[in-house]
Amino acid sequence: MNNQKYEVVIGLEVHVQLQTQSKLFCGDSAEFGAEPNTHISPITLAHPGTLPKMNRKAIEYAIKLGLSLNCDIEQHNYFARKNYFYPDLPKGYQVSQHTTPICKNGFIKIRTGETEKDIILNRIHLEEDAGKSLHDIDEQYTAIDLNRAGVPLLEIVTEPCLHSSEEAFAYITALRKLVRWLDICDGNMEEGSMRCDANISIRLKAETKLGTRVEVKNLNSIRNVKRAIEFETDRLIALVEDNKMILQETRSFDANNGTTFSLRTKEDADDYRYFPEPDLTPFHITNEFLVKIKDGLPDLPQMIEKRYINDLHLSAYDAAVICDDKDHVDFFEALIKCTTSYKAAANWLLGPVKSYLNEQNISIKEFPLLPERLAELIALVETGKLNFSIAATKVFTVLLNNTGKQALQIATELNLIQENDTASIEDWVNAIINKMPDKVKEYRAGKKGLIGLFAGEVKKLSKGKADMQIVNEILIQKLN
Ligand code: ADP
Ligand code: MG
Repeated sequence: MNNQKYEVVIGLEVHVQLQTQSKLFCGDSAEFGAEPNTHISPITLAHPGTLPKMNRKAIEYAIKLGLSLNCDIEQHNYFARKNYFYPDLPKGYQVSQHTTPICKNGFIKIRTGETEKDIILNRIHLEEDAGKSLHDIDEQYTAIDLNRAGVPLLEIVTEPCLHSSEEAFAYITALRKLVRWLDICDGNMEEGSMRCDANISIRLKAETKLGTRVEVKNLNSIRNVKRAIEFETDRLIALVEDNKMILQETRSFDANNGTTFSLRTKEDADDYRYFPEPDLTPFHITNEFLVKIKDGLPDLPQMIEKRYINDLHLSAYDAAVICDDKDHVDFFEALIKCTTSYKAAANWLLGPVKSYLNEQNISIKEFPLLPERLAELIALVETGKLNFSIAATKVFTVLLNNTGKQALQIATELNLIQENDTASIEDWVNAIINKMPDKVKEYRAGKKGLIGLFAGEVKKLSKGKADMQIVNEILIQKLN
């Protein structure tokens, strides 16, 4: 409504659960979905006398993400205790790098419509997750599952530099793609392995000072982040237009009706009494460790997309669709090791292969055909031995059920190899021309559209095996 007059300002905090085998400070399994309270050693439960121990893999993952997001990596790191009471926090404090993040600055490119923009990051820090309070399994009691307590999290915080719900949507989509690409988090927001809090404020368009923000928690899907921002933007504008004060507060999103409600105001600002975690010594990241991680980083999707467009001459669209998923890229990379028909390889992957995966509801990792076998089929089409639609419907289907066989063998057995030997095609063309003298007369009198009829007849006669390009050439030659 008043979007002309106001600008929305958004900063996002995303928590990413790292896919390490064990927790951040002990050997308990960090796996999701286990029977409640089975991953809880005395260290997770914070029994007196237990000591935390740093998980090296978690640091490695943090650095992987930081380097991929163009961040500065802090080599001298320590943790602090963030003290607060909550039933799902057995220690009574969370060990966090809140004030001394491992990664600083950095940015990620997003695209909305035709516009590209860098979303500027403030920091990425490591911390441990809390347990989980389950409010809906018992009518009278809240149940506590501590499996999640101590699981490593990365918190990725942007500058207040986003200005629409679409930008927020694009940002989280890009971030989720990246953490999946790096294989550090499964990115499943519904299961809570990626969670987002949105900080939102509005201001008059010419204003440069930030307005009072609200923070919306519990956003468990990318779509809900967008919905919550849209709802809050309208609500805040309505408040200001009504001459009402905006209070700095924490709100929760109700996905059922798309609204938010207040959890607490920040009047009584939280005092967490941060102090350096005395049980963990500061840890230093060596140059060697950094270089090793840098060297092991996979190519990132944006680089690969560029290479596909510039070197393989794929369309921007095809390149983007392939690079949407790392497993697709891996398959495509294997495929183009066996063929130089890059465009055809992309068409096969995005056409018949993808349809098959959808039909079977399986991922490309479960695709039964080796890239080399598919490349052989592609080669048959590219050399004119098989026509594409026959290859894609008949041969491909049989091949999928006989993955050890070669496409040529199957096509030969099914008698589908296209005839591109001019002598036999000429015989078929002659036969049709002799069979239809009237039509030939009409054609010669100017009814050029009849060429399709002749070609169709030749195709029928050859049982679909004639290379139609050659058929057309010979037909035109004979008829004129
Ligand atoms: P906290 O430590 O309370 O979470 P931070 O200063 O770290 O607060 O900010 C958290 C997030 O809120 C960041 O993403 C930041 O960009 C964003 N933010 C801060 N102020 C505003 C504001 N006025 N409007 C919108 N977003 C804001
Ligand atoms: Mg916050």
